[in-house]
Amino acid sequence: MADLSELYQQVILDHNKKPRNFKALETPSITQEGHNPLCGDHITLQLELDGEVVKDVGFQGSGCAISKASSSMMTAAVKGKSKAEVEVMADEFVKMVRGELDPDTEENHLGRLKIFAGVKEFPARVKCAALSWRTVQAAISESHDAVSTE
Ligand code: ZN
Repeated sequence: MADLSELYQQVILDHNKKPRNFKALETPSITQEGHNPLCGDHITLQLELDGEVVKDVGFQGSGCAISKASSSMMTAAVKGKSKAEVEVMADEFVKMVRGELDPDTEENHLGRLKIFAGVKEFPARVKCAALSWRTVQAAISESHDAVSTE
Protein backbone atom coordinates (compact mmCIF):
# COMPACT_ATOMS: atom_id res chain seq x y z
CA MET A 1 0.00 0.00 0.00
CA ALA A 2 1.44 3.31 -1.08
CA ASP A 3 1.30 6.00 1.54
CA LEU A 4 -0.08 9.46 1.03
CA SER A 5 3.31 11.16 0.97
CA GLU A 6 4.19 9.10 -2.08
CA LEU A 7 1.07 10.31 -3.84
CA TYR A 8 1.72 13.92 -2.99
CA GLN A 9 4.97 13.86 -4.86
CA GLN A 10 6.96 16.99 -5.36
CA VAL A 11 5.57 17.55 -8.82
CA ILE A 12 1.95 17.46 -7.59
CA LEU A 13 2.79 19.89 -4.80
CA ASP A 14 4.55 22.15 -7.27
CA HIS A 15 1.61 22.23 -9.70
CA ASN A 16 -0.76 22.86 -6.80
CA LYS A 17 1.29 25.81 -5.61
CA LYS A 18 2.03 27.24 -9.06
CA PRO A 19 -0.68 25.95 -11.39
CA ARG A 20 0.09 26.25 -15.12
CA ASN A 21 -2.42 27.99 -17.39
CA PHE A 22 -4.43 29.27 -14.40
CA LYS A 23 -6.10 32.07 -16.35
CA ALA A 24 -9.17 33.15 -18.27
CA LEU A 25 -8.79 33.20 -22.06
CA GLU A 26 -9.73 36.35 -23.96
CA THR A 27 -11.27 34.57 -26.94
CA PRO A 28 -12.22 31.04 -25.84
CA SER A 29 -13.90 28.73 -28.38
CA ILE A 30 -15.35 26.60 -25.60
CA THR A 31 -16.04 27.14 -21.90
CA GLN A 32 -16.81 24.00 -19.91
CA GLU A 33 -17.72 23.61 -16.24
CA GLY A 34 -16.87 20.58 -14.13
CA HIS A 35 -17.78 19.68 -10.54
CA ASN A 36 -16.84 16.96 -8.11
CA PRO A 37 -19.52 17.32 -5.40
CA LEU A 38 -17.92 14.56 -3.32
CA CYS A 39 -14.88 16.74 -2.57
CA GLY A 40 -16.08 20.21 -3.60
CA ASP A 41 -13.71 20.52 -6.55
CA HIS A 42 -14.79 22.93 -9.26
CA ILE A 43 -13.17 23.75 -12.58
CA THR A 44 -14.00 26.22 -15.33
CA LEU A 45 -12.04 25.12 -18.36
CA GLN A 46 -11.57 27.21 -21.49
CA LEU A 47 -10.15 26.08 -24.82
CA GLU A 48 -9.20 28.13 -27.82
CA LEU A 49 -9.30 25.90 -30.89
CA ASP A 50 -7.57 26.42 -34.19
CA GLY A 51 -9.42 23.93 -36.37
CA GLU A 52 -8.89 20.58 -34.63
CA VAL A 53 -5.95 21.77 -32.54
CA VAL A 54 -5.98 23.16 -28.98
CA LYS A 55 -4.19 26.45 -29.51
CA ASP A 56 -4.56 27.76 -25.97
CA VAL A 57 -6.09 26.54 -22.75
CA GLY A 58 -6.85 28.03 -19.36
CA PHE A 59 -8.61 26.92 -16.20
CA GLN A 60 -9.98 28.54 -13.09
CA GLY A 61 -11.70 27.20 -10.03
CA SER A 62 -10.92 25.76 -6.67
CA GLY A 63 -10.39 22.36 -5.20
CA CYS A 64 -8.07 20.02 -3.38
CA ALA A 65 -4.38 19.64 -4.21
CA ILE A 66 -4.97 16.58 -6.39
CA SER A 67 -7.68 18.19 -8.52
CA LYS A 68 -5.73 21.39 -8.94
CA ALA A 69 -2.48 19.64 -9.84
CA SER A 70 -4.38 17.38 -12.24
CA SER A 71 -5.99 20.41 -13.92
CA SER A 72 -2.64 22.16 -14.19
CA MET A 73 -0.89 19.13 -15.71
CA MET A 74 -3.86 18.40 -17.98
CA THR A 75 -3.75 21.90 -19.48
CA ALA A 76 0.01 21.64 -20.04
CA ALA A 77 -0.46 18.23 -21.67
CA VAL A 78 -3.28 19.15 -24.08
CA LYS A 79 -1.89 22.44 -25.35
CA GLY A 80 -0.89 22.07 -29.00
CA LYS A 81 -2.56 18.65 -29.30
CA SER A 82 -5.40 17.73 -31.65
CA LYS A 83 -8.85 16.92 -30.29
CA ALA A 84 -8.30 13.27 -31.24
CA GLU A 85 -5.02 13.14 -29.27
CA VAL A 86 -6.68 14.77 -26.25
CA GLU A 87 -9.50 12.21 -26.40
CA VAL A 88 -6.97 9.34 -26.27
CA MET A 89 -5.03 10.87 -23.36
CA ALA A 90 -8.22 11.57 -21.39
CA ASP A 91 -9.39 8.00 -21.85
CA GLU A 92 -6.01 6.60 -20.78
CA PHE A 93 -5.73 8.92 -17.78
CA VAL A 94 -9.17 8.03 -16.42
CA LYS A 95 -8.44 4.31 -16.88
CA MET A 96 -5.07 4.69 -15.14
CA VAL A 97 -6.45 6.38 -12.00
CA ARG A 98 -9.20 3.74 -11.83
CA GLY A 99 -6.52 1.05 -11.94
CA GLU A 100 -7.69 -0.23 -15.35
CA LEU A 101 -4.46 0.67 -17.15
CA ASP A 102 -0.94 0.06 -15.91
CA PRO A 103 1.17 2.81 -17.50
CA ASP A 104 4.38 0.85 -16.91
CA THR A 105 3.34 -2.24 -18.82
CA GLU A 106 0.66 -1.07 -21.26
CA GLU A 107 1.14 1.25 -24.20
CA ASN A 108 -0.01 4.80 -23.48
CA HIS A 109 0.58 8.45 -24.26
CA LEU A 110 0.61 9.73 -20.69
CA GLY A 111 4.28 10.64 -20.22
CA ARG A 112 4.72 12.62 -16.99
CA LEU A 113 1.03 12.19 -16.18
CA LYS A 114 2.03 8.71 -14.96
CA ILE A 115 2.75 10.23 -11.54
CA PHE A 116 -1.02 10.13 -10.95
CA ALA A 117 -1.03 6.32 -11.18
CA GLY A 118 -0.79 6.14 -7.36
CA VAL A 119 -4.22 7.76 -7.06
CA LYS A 120 -5.82 4.36 -7.70
CA GLU A 121 -4.84 3.40 -4.14
CA PHE A 122 -7.07 6.18 -2.81
CA PRO A 123 -10.65 5.66 -4.05
CA ALA A 124 -11.84 9.00 -2.63
CA ARG A 125 -9.25 10.84 -4.70
CA VAL A 126 -9.92 9.15 -8.06
CA LYS A 127 -12.71 11.59 -8.94
CA CYS A 128 -10.51 14.54 -7.94
CA ALA A 129 -7.79 13.45 -10.37
CA ALA A 130 -10.24 12.54 -13.14
CA LEU A 131 -12.32 15.74 -12.99
CA SER A 132 -10.16 17.89 -15.27
CA TRP A 133 -9.93 15.10 -17.87
CA ARG A 134 -13.68 14.42 -17.76
CA THR A 135 -14.17 18.16 -18.25
CA VAL A 136 -11.85 18.43 -21.25
CA GLN A 137 -13.54 15.35 -22.74
CA ALA A 138 -16.92 17.07 -22.47
CA ALA A 139 -15.46 20.28 -23.92
CA ILE A 140 -14.12 18.63 -27.07
CA SER A 141 -17.11 16.33 -27.50
CA GLU A 142 -19.22 19.50 -27.71
CA SER A 143 -21.94 18.09 -25.51
CA HIS A 144 -21.26 21.05 -23.21
CA ASP A 145 -23.42 19.74 -20.41
CA ALA A 146 -21.79 20.63 -17.11
CA VAL A 147 -19.71 17.71 -15.90
CA SER A 148 -20.46 16.19 -12.55
CA THR A 149 -18.48 13.22 -11.30
CA GLU A 150 -21.57 11.96 -9.46
ZN1 ZN B 1 -10.75 16.82 -4.59
